[in-house]
Amino acid sequence: MPQLISVDVENLRKNVAGSVFSPEDPGYDDARRMWNGQYDRRPAVVVQPVTAADVSSAITFAREHDLEISVRGGAHSTGGLCVIDGSVHINLSLMNSVTVDPRTRRCRVGGGALLGDRDTATQEHGLAAPAGIVGHTGVGGLTLGGGMGWLTRKHGLSIDNLISAEVVTADGRIRTASPEKEPDLFWAIRGGGGNFGVVTSFEFQLHPVGPIVQFGLFFWPLEQVTDVLRLTREVVATLAPELNVMIAGVNAPPAPFVPAEHQGRPGIMLLVTGFGPEAEHAELVDRIRRERPPLVEMVTPIPYAQLQQMFDEANAWGLLAYDKAIYVKELSDDVIAVVADQLPRKSSPHSAMFFFRLDGAYSEVGDDATAFSGGRTPRFTVFLLAVADNHEAYRADRDWVRGFWDALLPLGMGKGSYVNGETEFPEDRVRASYGEAKYERLARIKAAYDPDNVFRHNGNIKPAPQPPRQRSATG
Ligand code: FAD
Repeated sequence: MPQLISVDVENLRKNVAGSVFSPEDPGYDDARRMWNGQYDRRPAVVVQPVTAADVSSAITFAREHDLEISVRGGAHSTGGLCVIDGSVHINLSLMNSVTVDPRTRRCRVGGGALLGDRDTATQEHGLAAPAGIVGHTGVGGLTLGGGMGWLTRKHGLSIDNLISAEVVTADGRIRTASPEKEPDLFWAIRGGGGNFGVVTSFEFQLHPVGPIVQFGLFFWPLEQVTDVLRLTREVVATLAPELNVMIAGVNAPPAPFVPAEHQGRPGIMLLVTGFGPEAEHAELVDRIRRERPPLVEMVTPIPYAQLQQMFDEANAWGLLAYDKAIYVKELSDDVIAVVADQLPRKSSPHSAMFFFRLDGAYSEVGDDATAFSGGRTPRFTVFLLAVADNHEAYRADRDWVRGFWDALLPLGMGKGSYVNGETEFPEDRVRASYGEAKYERLARIKAAYDPDNVFRHNGNIKPAPQPPRQRSATG
C-alpha cells in the first residue's frame, strides 16, 4: 500500500470544504466506525465531504495516490464493506440534509442521510417514501440495493420511487442520473449497489402516510411455529395492499407489555401494519387472535415515525453480525418444516429470521425496469441474521445462518438473493442474484462509468471487457 505523507493530506484538506482525518487526528476513530462490531478497519485517510465537489476531490485524490476507495452511507453493511483498511474512506454522514416539497410530494435527500432523517422530515407533511424498518439504516446503501419495508406492498421498493440522483463517478464528474439524463446509469443505480459512483443526493417520490398508522405484534412460543406459518400463508393470500404482515423468528423482547416470565423466550412473531382504514387492520388482528391465540400481543395505533424507530434499539451499533438472504415463492409445507426445524437452533437472543412479503406494488414493476437483484413475481425475502454480543455466540450463529440457508436452498427461487441481505459476495452468487442478462447489462454500464473498478467493495459487478478507445462514459 502506498504511504501517504502529511503534505499529501494537507493538499487534500485545501480542496475539501468538509473534514479530513489522518489516523493521528482526533475524530479519526469516530469517523471510521461502522455498525457491525465484527470489524475494526483503519483507512489511510477519512474524508467527510459536505458537497459533491468534496466527493470528487476525494475520488481524484485516491486515484492519484493509487489508494482504494470505501464509501459509507449509514454504515450498516454487514460485510463491513463501507470501511476498508488503507483506503480513502468517504464518510457521507455530514451529507444528511432532507428537503421536502409538499406540493409535488417529492424530497431530496443527502447521500449520507439515515432513514430516520428522511422519515422525520417527510412526516412533518404527512408523507413518506418506502424504506427499511430500522431508522438508523442509511438511505444510500438501502436504496442502491433496492430498499424494502412496511410500504413495499403498497408503494414498491425505495428504488421504484427514485426520481433522480446526483452521482459522482470514478472520473470525478458530477452527473445527474434520471430517466432523461444518463438513463443507463439511472437504471444501474436502482439495484446495482455502490458499483457506479458515489450518490451525493437522491430525489424521491413521496406518498401520503399516517401520521398515525395501525400496528399489531403477536408472539407465540417455538412449539407453535408450524401453525402460525400455516395461518400466515392463508392470511397473505388475500391481504389488502394497505396491510403488511412480517414474520419474525425472534426472542420475546424485554418490553413492558411482555410478562417477565416470557421475556427473552425464543419464538415466532407476526408484525401486522395497516396504512388504510382502521377497521381493515382490526379485522385481520381479530382473525389472528381467533384462529391462533398468541402468548403475548400488543395492538395499537402508532405514529408512522415511531413505527420506523421501533427496532432501532434492538439493532444497536456494535453488535457482531452476519447475514444471508434467499427468496422463497411461498410458505409451502416444506419451507415451514425447515423453519420449524432450524429456528430453535440459534443460540444468541439477538439472532433472527425475517420473512418480508413482496407483492402488490412490488410486482407491478417490470423485471427489467430496474437493476434490482430479484424478479418481481410475488415472493418472500428471507433474511437470516446472526447477531451476538460475543464472538463465541457469533461463530455459532454464523454457522446456524449458513446451515439454515443451505436447508432452504432447494426450496428457494435459486441461489441468488437480495444483495442487501448478504455479508459475503462470491462472484457466482452476485451473478445469480442479478441473473445473467441483467448482470451482463450492468457489466457494460460498469465498463462505461467505472472501467477500472474503482468502486469494488460491494456486491461487485466486474466491468465488461471493452476495446481501450471505448473505455469512457458517453454521458
Ligand atoms: P453502508 O455500509 O454505508 O453502505 C452499504 C454499501 O452501499 C457499501 O458498499 C457502500 O459503499 C454503498 N453506499 C452507501 N451509501 C452510498 C452512496 N451514497 N453512494 C454510493 N454508495 C453508497 N434492507 C432493507 O431493504 N430493508 C430493511 O428493513 C433493512 N433493515 C436492516 C436493518 C439492519 C439493522 C441492517 C444492518 C441492515 C438492514 N437492511 C435492510 C440491509 C441494508 O439495506 C443494507 O445493509 C444497506 O447496505 C445499508 O446501507 P447503509 O448506507 O446503511 O450501509
